[in-house]
Amino acid sequence: MNWLGDHDHGWSPGINEGLIHKVVVTTSDRTVAVCDDGTPLFLSVDDPLISSQELHLAGTLNGVTYYGVRCPEIRDLNYEALRPVLVQLDSQGFIPVSAAMQVLDFMEEHRFCGRCGAETTASVSDRGRHCAPCGLTQYPRISPCVIVLITRGDEILLARAPRFVEGMYSTLAGFVEAGESAEHACHREIQEEVGVRIKTPVYQGSQSWPFKHSLMLGYWAEWESGEIEIDCEEIVDAQWFHIEKLPKLPPHASISRGMIDAYISQRLS
Ligand SMILES: [Zn+2]
Repeated sequence: MNWLGDHDHGWSPGINEGLIHKVVVTTSDRTVAVCDDGTPLFLSVDDPLISSQELHLAGTLNGVTYYGVRCPEIRDLNYEALRPVLVQLDSQGFIPVSAAMQVLDFMEEHRFCGRCGAETTASVSDRGRHCAPCGLTQYPRISPCVIVLITRGDEILLARAPRFVEGMYSTLAGFVEAGESAEHACHREIQEEVGVRIKTPVYQGSQSWPFKHSLMLGYWAEWESGEIEIDCEEIVDAQWFHIEKLPKLPPHASISRGMIDAYISQRLS
């Protein structure tokens, strides 16, 4: 299995232990400051361009500690949307930028307490935001989402959502509801979106995916019964594709593509 950020044990989230310190610069629109070649621009912590900005710690990867700042666009810098910046990177770049963006989203969206409305402050001991008047501490939001590769011998069931780029099909995905197990979510989502039944889903691995704060839980499941019947809202088309005649697929960076590629190599070996 191979996808961005899948197993980099060198990553220490929320830990400042690097000898080198770098800053990712972002805006509230979730754009990222980039170099001329489109890769993320990392500033030093004492760069005058960000001297008035608050740094938020993302974590340390292989001796480099990463921070994020969020502020209106700085003149002289170029910006790019998060998705195209991320999907071209390797895990060494993907992990800190993805983490910084999610930490900054959280800090920006939890400036006030959801329970009493008072202003919150960053906790000194962890990554939470604390409300002194009522005592509530909130932590960065993570939304578990199942993503399921459904197979039937040499065929894969892939679907198109309305937001997908032209011609692209992907594995089916959906958020885990409160009170539901991930496996239950697999059965429910598949039934709702394409009307087929699957055998027991087998866990393949996970991927942190910052659109917006998803934790993708990858499963593989064999088709059990039923014909494709789409709901036409979340899904505009779904088909069985032979592994030798596949449509345009999601980028290699994604867990969806990682699971598809792994299944194909397994069938062809
Ligand atoms: Zn409060």
